[in-house]
Amino acid sequence: MNRPTSAARGAIALSVLTALLAFAAPASAGFSPGAKTLGDPIIPQVGNGGYDVKKYEIDLSYDPVTNRFLAGTKTLIVAKATQGLSRFSLDFQRDLAIDGVEVDGADASYSRADAKPKLSSNPEVTQPAKLTIKPPTGLARGSKFSVVVAYHGEPKAIVDADTSFEGWVQACSSPGDCDGSFTVNEPIGAQSWFPANNHPSDKAKLRLATTAPAAYTAIGSGKQVSRVDNGDGTATTTWAENKPMATYLATGTVGRFDVEQGTMTDHTDGTEIPTFTAIDSAGPQQRKDEVATAAMRIPEMVNFLARKFGSYPFETVGLVADWVPAVGYALENQTKPHFSGDEEGPQVDDSTLAHELSHQWMGDSISPANWSTIWFNEGWATFSEVLFDNKVDGAEMTPRKFFKAVYEIKPKYWKIAPAKLDGDPANLFDGVAVYNRPGAMLEGLREIIGNKRFFAFAHDLNDRHGYGNISRGEFVGEAKRASGLHGGKLKRLGRYLRQWLLWQKRPHLTPSDF
Ligand SMILES: [Zn+2]
Repeated sequence: MNRPTSAARGAIALSVLTALLAFAAPASAGFSPGAKTLGDPIIPQVGNGGYDVKKYEIDLSYDPVTNRFLAGTKTLIVAKATQGLSRFSLDFQRDLAIDGVEVDGADASYSRADAKPKLSSNPEVTQPAKLTIKPPTGLARGSKFSVVVAYHGEPKAIVDADTSFEGWVQACSSPGDCDGSFTVNEPIGAQSWFPANNHPSDKAKLRLATTAPAAYTAIGSGKQVSRVDNGDGTATTTWAENKPMATYLATGTVGRFDVEQGTMTDHTDGTEIPTFTAIDSAGPQQRKDEVATAAMRIPEMVNFLARKFGSYPFETVGLVADWVPAVGYALENQTKPHFSGDEEGPQVDDSTLAHELSHQWMGDSISPANWSTIWFNEGWATFSEVLFDNKVDGAEMTPRKFFKAVYEIKPKYWKIAPAKLDGDPANLFDGVAVYNRPGAMLEGLREIIGNKRFFAFAHDLNDRHGYGNISRGEFVGEAKRASGLHGGKLKRLGRYLRQWLLWQKRPHLTPSDF
């Protein structure tokens, strides 16, 4: 079923014929190639036009010893055409060999190329790639279609513009001591292990079935559906995330873990939520005990946040504490935040756990419309972390003090506007522009409109944008609507938000101007 366009003369001849037929009947044809970009202002190399993904079904056959995907690995994508499509593209790195592509059960030709333009002038940075698929017949606008891509080989971690690692990262506690994968996909890592419309604006359900040696734990997003012993030393574990998910929040982590499962109650609506905690088995016992103690605070944190933002949005909650110091950060993977630990072992600190859990509402359920809206995720998570540390754990830094401290930051740190990031993907995780400044902006908004209206606003955002996306314009509109302000003060609030999100210098307006 594999038929690369570049090598198959028959396919070329057929495409010429198809083009001639299309030319002969322009009124009924209406098929054109989908765009190879969604025009993201920070990462235009990812995202593809002409279709909307409804679900991914990924089957991985994985050998954690060699870190390779074996024969039988494939991804099924069900999508809806939003235009008549003569061909379309997916985001998928070229490290993995493709065994075949089918569209609606029929062999399809394909080609692979680097995405354009160049992401970074640093040669260490991974250039995103495209898989372009030409179905045997055009896909009618509005029709549902399925794509199956079969592949194998060794997935390579992605090196981001800021030189951090993401995607399918081999999980090594020290060089050469590796036990599987630590999967963290923000912003583009998903395309290192499955073909996707890899942009946060195209959210979809995702099911993952991983076949791996039975001694390993294979983790996915959402809830575990089944675990089948294959009788040959391997087991297949299937997970399903039934709520829409951005590809950057998916996980496929495999390793040797101590797993704890239980349930917790969301007291805002009485829902019982299954919990799942996985701690790297190889970690020192003291570190494992400390992580287990931190994980026991998940119910308390989820309830604290649910009172502020609305009921917990997903079917399961938990964490994965791996031992992969080369990664060096935590990520809010949907339903299971991931922690990479440090040289000494797995590690989860309470503040960071509150931060990653707050993302389940702000970032995961309400996802950014594009990568220049990442200030929304990190602003809320920074604010939540400060609030939790102060209100629950008694930290001296109140949200008010936090605002003041941020406003004192030296002028040079205000040059990057949160909602622009100079168009540079290396600024995607800038500490001031993406975390502290938007966090302070939200605290300022709380001081301007008051606690009651502010947290009603947070609830409203979840009611109106949960399981979807939010743009800067939508956020500003919602904030103004929720403010209860009128006339000159409402206009001033608009200016306040614009200054805090768009100015390339320290904003003039602060809560004391209201
Ligand atoms: Zn965060």
